Amino acid sequence: LLCLSAAAMATTEYMKYKDPKLAINVRIKDLMSRMTLEEKIGQMVQIDRTKASNKVLKKYLIGSVLSGGGSVPAKRASAETWVDMVNDFQKGSLSTRLGIPMIYGIDAVHGHNNVYGATVFPHNVGLGCTRDPALVKKIGAATALEVRATGIPYVFAPCIAVCRDPRWGRCFESYSEDHTIVQAMTEIIPGLQGDIPANSRKGVPFVGGKQKVAACAKHYLGDGGTNKGINENNTIISANGLFSIHMPAYYNSVIKGVATVMISYSSWNGVKMHSNRQLITGFLKNRLKFRGFVISDWQGIDRMTTPEHANYTWSIITGVNAGIDMIMVPYNYTEFIDGIIPLVKGKFISMTRIDDAVRRILRVKFGMGLFENPLADYSMAKYLGKKEHRELAREAVRKSLVLLKNGKYADKPLLPLSKKAPKILVVGSHADNIGNQCGGWTIVWQGKSGNITTGTTILSAIKKTVAPETKVVYRENPDAKFVKNNKFSYAIVVVGEPPYAETFGDSLSLTIPETGINTIKNVCGAIKCVVVLISGRPVVIEPYISQIDALVAAWLPGSEGQGVADVLFGDYGFTGKLARTWFKNVDQLPMNVGDSHYDPLFPFGFGLTTKP
Ligand code: BGC
Repeated sequence: LLCLSAAAMATTEYMKYKDPKLAINVRIKDLMSRMTLEEKIGQMVQIDRTKASNKVLKKYLIGSVLSGGGSVPAKRASAETWVDMVNDFQKGSLSTRLGIPMIYGIDAVHGHNNVYGATVFPHNVGLGCTRDPALVKKIGAATALEVRATGIPYVFAPCIAVCRDPRWGRCFESYSEDHTIVQAMTEIIPGLQGDIPANSRKGVPFVGGKQKVAACAKHYLGDGGTNKGINENNTIISANGLFSIHMPAYYNSVIKGVATVMISYSSWNGVKMHSNRQLITGFLKNRLKFRGFVISDWQGIDRMTTPEHANYTWSIITGVNAGIDMIMVPYNYTEFIDGIIPLVKGKFISMTRIDDAVRRILRVKFGMGLFENPLADYSMAKYLGKKEHRELAREAVRKSLVLLKNGKYADKPLLPLSKKAPKILVVGSHADNIGNQCGGWTIVWQGKSGNITTGTTILSAIKKTVAPETKVVYRENPDAKFVKNNKFSYAIVVVGEPPYAETFGDSLSLTIPETGINTIKNVCGAIKCVVVLISGRPVVIEPYISQIDALVAAWLPGSEGQGVADVLFGDYGFTGKLARTWFKNVDQLPMNVGDSHYDPLFPFGFGLTTKP
């Protein structure tokens, strides 16, 4: 009898950390006083979805799970399928001794882009040209809703890289070469997370409830400044340059309460960022007072050495001591756990450092209400690909387009196009291709040509926009004879870069594929044409510019191609302004506004306008 009542008492023991009425600091302190070293280390580990299960989360006390690029529970998985998967993992965490919820993260970098049927917004390179932070904030809010629709509370966005060289394969993830534009666009953070309360302490992470998600400013620091734009390479720059170009957007992010910061694979002057204690702990945490958690990049710890994983023990010590709190392992988590525990016991990594990491992770989890609401339900599923979000994406497309040339002679502009022309020609590899217009980080990591998700292609948007009598003829790549002999009023040529992501997009030539060039030559050589370029960055266009009547930079517009037709046909005017310098030839690179050798084809800030 005595035993029984003791057990009964134990189950009803009042635990401060479970009491939502108490201050977060009090709850964290109480919880940490109960945690073993193994439980603390578990919080610091993030594993990939493909390695996760209810059992694994429970057994290894894992603190976080992610979907690496394109990692989905099933092809075309519904919102409900996602919710079920995340909840199943979560139940593993909740059934541990202390029941600390895990946090699930995903790359929602232009809308909830891994998920079939989600709204795909323009990539950041286009959003920079809108110069419209309020719009970008709304995009953040819509993205948060779509991500929550799938039961996920955390995104690895925004990328606040200041891309200084378009040869970088991630240039499209950057809003601009100019840090002031990138700073302004950190408005996406309150969009994703909610507006911080007025009396909030500097640097404290803030996530405003179940319709918001934790954000991640990435990649700290200098990712956009690497030599020749080589991905994950070395950023050679003075401290003054680093702090005046690459750092400012982190000030804005921290002030806006960003929950997490991801470390860059790149190096600064030869030192890997994942090992840079001065910049991570000294600057970000101590000087900027950032109180959220710092997360490594995917296998970022492994990549601290060349070859990768050459001295994992050294990498763990150096990375964690540099100030990395959560490690995106993401596969060999037992190796990491078995590696770090003796290092803590042997005092290579202090308990103070581990406690700092765990406190930060718990601060985010408590702060966003994960302890109170660890499990998602289906009530948010309706937000995925919602009509209002598609309208917002369409508006963003309209505002992101930059008109670079309009008519061979200024007094005879080609745009806006007539909706009533009897017969028009639409051509090119990107005219009727959702995958191409979305670019990388869409459905799959690298993106993919073709009918990969729902939305409106530019061709179908054109058909919806012109008068019913207008005949729209589409050929992917017609020969010059066909073009000449068919009495078209004009042609719309939609060509550009194929989808790519990360290192696969690094390019020293910055050309578009030969077929695209041939399409331009065959069509623009024969009749009046507007070229709509779909690309993640400025590309080589100077040699063909004299043949082209009108030129539009449409960047990577995403799923709502209707935005392109809205502006081409004059329902709205062109307003976008280049947030990047358009070079004449690649020998000029790097070339950014303010450089002494500045001699662009189209300068930073350029953009012709048309009246609606
Ligand atoms: C990228 C990150 C991304 C992570 C998780 C890495 O390869 O550099 O930007 O958040 O993968 O998918």
